[in-house]
Amino acid sequence: MTGTWAIALHGGAGAIAARAYQQEEEHMAALLDRGAAMLAKGMSALDVVVAMAGALEASGLHVAGKGAAPNAAGVVELDASVMDGATRMAGAVAALRGFISPVRVARGVMENTPHVLLVGEGASRFAAEQGFERVDDPKTYYVPAASGLPGPESGSGTIGAVALDTSGKLAAATSTGGLHGKMPGRVGDTPIIGAGCWADQRAAVSCTGLGEYFMRVNAAADVSARIAYAGQTLESAAAAVIEDVRGLGGYGGLIAVDAAGNVTSPFASQGMKRGLANSRGLREVKTFQ
Ligand code: ASP
Repeated sequence: MTGTWAIALHGGAGAIAARAYQQEEEHMAALLDRGAAMLAKGMSALDVVVAMAGALEASGLHVAGKGAAPNAAGVVELDASVMDGATRMAGAVAALRGFISPVRVARGVMENTPHVLLVGEGASRFAAEQGFERVDDPKTYYVPAASGLPGPESGSGTIGAVALDTSGKLAAATSTGGLHGKMPGRVGDTPIIGAGCWADQRAAVSCTGLGEYFMRVNAAADVSARIAYAGQTLESAAAAVIEDVRGLGGYGGLIAVDAAGNVTSPFASQGMKRGLANSRGLREVKTFQ
């Protein structure tokens, strides 16, 4: 036990400057304190990121889980992923229909199958066999978090959690409804290990933004690669990755923690709902700069 822990949460980079996010920030602050207390008590980073991501999904305040919006065919299809840095085990689901917590199903894929990613019908069948909680009626369960708002960035959102535990282990989780009105079957970066989610012995990363760009820069894994191969700090590695996304014409942000307890949350978008804390006294909840 090192005594050092760190945590970061995000509620998506689709925040728009014209709107206030007080409710989202209050919820995130309470959750951040809960996550910090869990880590301080010695809980594993993996358990904490799944608990945090599950609560963000259930809140209906972000475009993930309950807050997700339907695709162009009127169907809610959700993507999620989880990665355990110590073992480099990972699990993900894409275009999952009808389950309350895609991130918990992603953990199920990691722990109870030899696979990393299950999609569509196969993912739903697995979730049903494993007894994950179903959505009774999609028409009443989902309350799209940002629908009806103007501007391209408001049409998307994601939630994520990254953590370093007191055993020095890192984990990351990401979950999304993707883009509002997306093509049926469209899958973004969120369930793609290395793009929207990554954890190893150096860093844990969760991304949000226009997923096509995050896939094209292999964003989440590149943060760790820059630390390993270029000797960059967590902060400069994460900033460089977001600059890469922006340079290609994309938008978005990420949250990341490293094995020393550093935390960073760069974004190139109007805002990104986020909460950051560590055992050195950092505690910050913000949406804009
Ligand atoms: N990255 C997500 C996706 O492309 C959306 C978002 O984070 O806003 O599906």
